Amino acid sequence: MQPQSIAIIGAGTAGLATAALLAEQGHHITLIERAEALAPVGAGLLLQPTGLSVLKDMGLYQAMLGYGARVDALIGHTRDGRRIMNTAYRSLDDHSHGLGIHRASLCHVLDCHLQTLPHERLMGCTVSAVEVAEAHTTVIADNAGEPCRLTFDAVLIANGSHSRLRPTDWTRYDRLYPWGAMWAIQPMVESFAAPLLQQRYHRASQMVGILPTGCCPEQPNQPLASFFWSLPVAQMRHWQHRDFDFSGWRDQALQLWPQLETLLAPLTHQDQLLPATYRDVIMHRWGENRLGIIGDAAHAMSPQLGQGANMALLDARAIGQAVAESDAWPQVWRHYHRQREPQIRFYQRMSRWLTPAFQSHSRTVSRGRDLFFPAMERVPWLRIQMVKTVAGLKQSLLD
Ligand SMILES: Cc1cc2nc3c(=O)[nH]c(=O)nc-3n(C[C@H](O)[C@H](O)[C@H](O)COP(=O)(O)OP(=O)(O)OC[C@H]3O[C@@H](n4cnc5c(N)ncnc54)[C@H](O)[C@@H]3O)c2cc1C
Repeated sequence: MQPQSIAIIGAGTAGLATAALLAEQGHHITLIERAEALAPVGAGLLLQPTGLSVLKDMGLYQAMLGYGARVDALIGHTRDGRRIMNTAYRSLDDHSHGLGIHRASLCHVLDCHLQTLPHERLMGCTVSAVEVAEAHTTVIADNAGEPCRLTFDAVLIANGSHSRLRPTDWTRYDRLYPWGAMWAIQPMVESFAAPLLQQRYHRASQMVGILPTGCCPEQPNQPLASFFWSLPVAQMRHWQHRDFDFSGWRDQALQLWPQLETLLAPLTHQDQLLPATYRDVIMHRWGENRLGIIGDAAHAMSPQLGQGANMALLDARAIGQAVAESDAWPQVWRHYHRQREPQIRFYQRMSRWLTPAFQSHSRTVSRGRDLFFPAMERVPWLRIQMVKTVAGLKQSLLD
């Protein structure tokens, strides 16, 4: 395609990676981000082998390894020590692994790469609407207190799961999950330093997870762990109330998993844990005319399968390839849909089906999970399907 002026709204994983891949092709990129600066916010994310392959193609894999923590398997036990999850990446091949990484480090590496390429950026600029015309698309924004209208050949919406820019007539479903998590980043402790994402469950109503998270650019020598405590969204306000019984909660957490003691030692007040909520978003399409939508904004899902940042990187690669191989925007969207639709649909469905097995009050579902998951592990074909699902490799149930 002839060089195009393209605005990308949102400087998260999807926006930064796509900006770099399109700037490399000679397009005129304007990255628009509401935050004043890319601050070191967020907890740990799990990058899967498929997302890591995008970083390899971009020449960023080694830099990412320098910040991240290798993850060889996801393991989950019930409170009484029964293992019900064990998905080891090496079942795929000897080299496959995941990477636990701080969101700030992931954005930092992508941003350092983007800084080497010609582009413009508007920081502290919040987009409130996008208007599509036949020959251009207009972004309506508040740029550091000044209203502005900016016109581009095309616009990509990449502003995350809580996006209000999603075209309503493209959106089939958009709801907040009833469960979220409280999380904290803690210095890594010896008892969780193994290259594992570890979870512990009591029924489906209690779940705790520890993800090795590597380090962040500000403290390159401090290995970190991300701690997640599953919680219904309806209870988050109670958690944040000053009368919340934090030591009662700690006792509950330690009863679920006594080894947490050292990791939780620095946590003395509920304000040290932050709430995270997720959306479940299904769209009919992700691009039309001169407007596209990528990343969480396009297909937000629960993080149960650890696919958010991974899918954002795969979207970026697919958009890059679609633009490189097309002469006009309608062709870009045809390529993009063909490339991404099966996988996005599969992971949305799986996340929606699996989440209640780990986050709900249903005893029936958790009993089924405790029987079914270990049984799956004993059947080689099913075990591989589980690992492929986690690794981000699946396009459909039977592939
Ligand atoms: C602050 C923050 C913390 C997060 N923490 C975690 C975490 O701890 N663990 C985890 O698994 N996932 C976390 N996520 C989500 C995770 O980053 C994404 O699932 C994944 O990386 C996909 O990224 P994305 O680029 O689609 O969206 P995001 O990473 O959500 O990025 C969207 C970007 O768009 C910007 N934006 C939003 N609205 C506007 C607007 N109207 N105008 C301009 N810019 C806008 C946001 O500031 C943000 O930088 C977090 C996201 C954010 C924004």
